[in-house]
Amino acid sequence: MQILACTRCGLHATRTQAVPGTGPCPADVMIVGEAPGFNEDMQGKPFVGAAGKLLDTLLAQIGLSRESVFITNVLKCRPPQNRDPMPHEAEACLPYLRAQFKFLQPKIVLVLGRHALERMLPGVGSISRVHGQMFERGGVAFVPLYHPAAALHNGSLVSDLQRDFDRVREYLDKALAPAQPGPLPALPRPAGEAATIEQLPLL
Ligand code: URA
Repeated sequence: MQILACTRCGLHATRTQAVPGTGPCPADVMIVGEAPGFNEDMQGKPFVGAAGKLLDTLLAQIGLSRESVFITNVLKCRPPQNRDPMPHEAEACLPYLRAQFKFLQPKIVLVLGRHALERMLPGVGSISRVHGQMFERGGVAFVPLYHPAAALHNGSLVSDLQRDFDRVREYLDKALAPAQPGPLPALPRPAGEAATIEQLPLL
């Protein structure tokens, strides 16, 4: 696969391996984090360290398993010492995220942390202001959430994350609900009677 051999930015020189993402395709739920860390770089899988354990717990809380969702990151390669992604690295990596989004056709995208938020929902506001809200873009629900690693550093964010995941379940249930039936066709009217606005077919 292209990502595994990618040399679009300097991170290829320091990675052990690229971490494209894991999960089914297509997938109703897509989860986007920041970048692989030490454990992810070693194992080639996203969210396998402490933050990943918390993510698994939060998913289980709303009846989802890791195997049922597609998990990836903005950056597919680990930045040295887990430093923040640089803008040119995120730019170079973005075509992969776009392609994944296109193939997966998710109903809902969980946007973990401020770096993913900057890339996926630019301009909506800070993560502390918009976490747990739903932004609809082209028929897909995007939900910014605190990054699980941030909650591991600041325990007070865990309850926010739990509450927000409950909302994710509600958004997902709505997104997965069968479409409501359309309006009933107009009844035939007696000859000569004018059509009312209500009887005209909706476009
Ligand atoms: N943090 C991330 O953002 N992604 C991972 O895959 C692991 C930790």
